[in-house]
Amino acid sequence: MEAFRSEMPNHFNLPERIARLGELAYNLWWTWEKETQRLFEYIDPHLWEETYHNPIKFLRQAARARLNAVTFDKWYVEFYDRTLELFDRYMAAEDTWFLQRYPGLLNNPIAYFSTEFGLHVTVPIYAGGLGVLSGDHVKEASDLGLPFVAIGFLYTQGYFSQHITEDGWQEAHQVNLKFDDLPVLPLLKDDDQPAAVSVELPGREVHARIWEVRVGRVPLYLLDTNMEGNSESDRALTARLYSSDLDLRISQELILGVGGVRALRMLGYNPSVWHMNEGHSAFLALERCREKVAAGRAFAEAAEEVRRPTLFTTHTPVPAGNDEFPLWLMDKYFSHLWPELGLERDAFLDIARRQLSWGETFSMPVLALKLSAAANGVSELHGQVARKMWQFLYPAKKAEDVPISHITNGVHTGTWLARRLLGLFNQYLPENWYENIDDPDVWEHVADIPDEELWEARKHLKRKLVAYMRERARQQWVYDGVHPVQVVAAGTLLDPYALTIGFARRFSTYKRAGLALSDMERLLRLVNQPNRPVQIIFAGKSHPADEPGKLLIQEVYRKVKQAENGGRLVFLEDYDMNIARYLVQGVDVWLNTPRRPNEASGTSGEKAALNGVLNFSVLDGWWREGYNGHNGWAIGADHDYDDPAVQDREDAASLYATLENEIIPLYYDQRPGDKMPVKWVEMVKECLRTLAPRFSMKRMVKEYTDRLYLPMMQGAETIAASKK
Ligand SMILES: *Cc1c(COP(=O)(O)O)cnc(C)c1O
Repeated sequence: MEAFRSEMPNHFNLPERIARLGELAYNLWWTWEKETQRLFEYIDPHLWEETYHNPIKFLRQAARARLNAVTFDKWYVEFYDRTLELFDRYMAAEDTWFLQRYPGLLNNPIAYFSTEFGLHVTVPIYAGGLGVLSGDHVKEASDLGLPFVAIGFLYTQGYFSQHITEDGWQEAHQVNLKFDDLPVLPLLKDDDQPAAVSVELPGREVHARIWEVRVGRVPLYLLDTNMEGNSESDRALTARLYSSDLDLRISQELILGVGGVRALRMLGYNPSVWHMNEGHSAFLALERCREKVAAGRAFAEAAEEVRRPTLFTTHTPVPAGNDEFPLWLMDKYFSHLWPELGLERDAFLDIARRQLSWGETFSMPVLALKLSAAANGVSELHGQVARKMWQFLYPAKKAEDVPISHITNGVHTGTWLARRLLGLFNQYLPENWYENIDDPDVWEHVADIPDEELWEARKHLKRKLVAYMRERARQQWVYDGVHPVQVVAAGTLLDPYALTIGFARRFSTYKRAGLALSDMERLLRLVNQPNRPVQIIFAGKSHPADEPGKLLIQEVYRKVKQAENGGRLVFLEDYDMNIARYLVQGVDVWLNTPRRPNEASGTSGEKAALNGVLNFSVLDGWWREGYNGHNGWAIGADHDYDDPAVQDREDAASLYATLENEIIPLYYDQRPGDKMPVKWVEMVKECLRTLAPRFSMKRMVKEYTDRLYLPMMQGAETIAASKK
């Protein structure tokens, strides 16, 4: 078999003593091993900020004198040696959870497919929650030592950056990414040519080259069609995420599904588990059927074999969020494949045929459900919703018997926990708490943290957030030529001591960003109470083709600009993982107002909870499971509505009443000696104790492994054994 390699480019001019900084820069391990970033930051803190925490750009630009200087700094070189020792030990992986639990299964790789991966702000190949979840999943797979490989896209333009005009209209700015600045390594063949796979599209073959991202121990392979041998338009196929153009979309999904399987084969993988994170990658099942038919199986038999090791995770209770391709499009892209599968047109379309109001479609989630042996939603409620939604595929079954289970989403601790709190937890939680983050017993020790220290940490994080926002507003004022009112709208008047609420997420209409603003008179009365100010920070992007979403941003922005709110309502432009970190660590309260039951899980509130930020949310997705009456607040009741107008009205009433009667008093009253709000801190502790272990990515990936991956891995074992 041909060998492939990814080699670090030799573009750093580092002193020998600290030469391995280059290696760290090309492994995203540094992004979640919190202290490690100080290895870069310490060399030149100003440049570290200027390069937006991108170690590759940073190391290229760092002055040689500075690099030389740290090699004579005793503290630095010791820290450097310690960190690299930690890194080497991590990479050698001798005592991981997986190795200890399933030592015989290390050679049964799990292949994980997703259209987006949110790994770090400097690699903008994610749009929102789905991507951040994929990124967190890969990082935890690395931490737990799973035999894991991931497949996605390296979008040449990444996701857009957002600018808001004075009138509140979202403008999408696209630029070409400089791959040289990213922690992506070209995969090369023996002859130094780029490793690539080909996929048949109508009338041509399209080639996609393969890049490698090192996520701790896990390789993530990214496909990119911008290469020689492709036409101009094919080169742009993987330029952006989620086009609404159907041809572009189906082409991308073919490249991910079919090209992804071919890439893994080329690299020598024979996965024991194929995990489709959302239906976009479901064509991978057809490609594997094609392989088996080519090897002599009948289609039905091939499909059965393909199903057994295949897992589908659905994330979308909103029907419009699912890919449905019209049949004419399927004819255009797949007619060459029917004979290769041994099928006629109709039999092929039957695999995933779905009747919708506007006509017949080939449905990606149906394909994924039919060609997988296990499927799951991402919270308990979402599991129920998904079973109802897909019941028509299982006419003999009652909704509760539809074979879709659930595993509630979690978040990756190292990525989302504030450094300041990490220090506090290191001090007061049991040793090895970090390795056992999903163990509820560990978190009983939150009680040992002195209230004052916890409160100091919370205050520190809020000051940091406010300082960051003001600095951003200043930069916009100086460099972007924005209107003065936009400088205020960006947070110039924020008060680091006021009760601060965060609302940040994609602006889709079901998330109801405007709910808190639905009664402005009442809201203004609340935020402007003398001596008890309240501020609300909004942030979020809308998909560029989502006109209602963009109108919602405009509606919010116009209210934010009103002088009456005194600068206490704020809109933070260009929401990304960096801003998300500042917000979920820095605010006091995390607000989420989805129209239940449309929020499959949500994860931003889990990030907030991990940092002791109290959730104030609709009982939907994860919060319906997390809320216990003492660890945050609920908006509305634990039931569904038939009439969305009634639902909106009742949820808004609940929101205002709880804010007024519970949240504001809890924060401002009961401060003995005018110091800390003791009852609030008590609730922060209850939030950490009950939510941090359960909604961790460690709990989640262990659950996927034990419940879903393992039977498939063992199936592979049995099959392999029976062939001997
Ligand atoms: C965590 C995160 C999300 C997901 O947020 P939800 O509102 O919970 O869906 C979206 N975007 C970014 C940048 C995130 O970090």
